[in-house]
Amino acid sequence: MVFIGEYIGTIEEFLPMDGTYTEDGKIYASVIGDLIQNNERRIVLNLKIPKRAVGSTVLAEITDVKKNSASAIIRKILGYKQNMSVSAAIFVSQISDEYVDQVSNSFGVGDIIKAKIVRNEKNLIDLSTKGNLGVVKAFCWLCRHELILNKKKIGSRTLICPKCKKEETRKISDDYGAVKDILF
Ligand SMILES: [Zn+2]
Repeated sequence: MVFIGEYIGTIEEFLPMDGTYTEDGKIYASVIGDLIQNNERRIVLNLKIPKRAVGSTVLAEITDVKKNSASAIIRKILGYKQNMSVSAAIFVSQISDEYVDQVSNSFGVGDIIKAKIVRNEKNLIDLSTKGNLGVVKAFCWLCRHELILNKKKIGSRTLICPKCKKEETRKISDDYGAVKDILF
């Protein structure tokens, strides 16, 4: 069992996973959990975090977009292998550190987001995509093709459909298109 802020090891020894943070090459726990070591090419760390605990990072699918909030289904808690199906909500104030006018400028139905649980009371779960979290996979509103980062616009956070060239905006995660764990 490790606690938040506890020293785990160095990046030469371990490959840091979710539930950890690194500082000057040293790995620390960012959640409370059990340490799992797994012998492959390098030793992989995986923190077992309490299910649906506040602070857990999840992958969720957007199922509805309203004016002031979006509905989502949590499909996976990062660090856990098994899939799940748990309802959650994201309020407009929890989308970004910047002001968001319309939820529909940040999320689309069917998008997969990486988000953090910020509240879990009486089975009402609220998520947040502030900071570097956000959409990791999105689909074209017109043709449903998977959207890719619009590389023609340097520094922009817009996505483009490679099929019909439609441009769309999202609150994009830092690792848009690079999350391999999306296998629901
Ligand atoms: Zn399209």
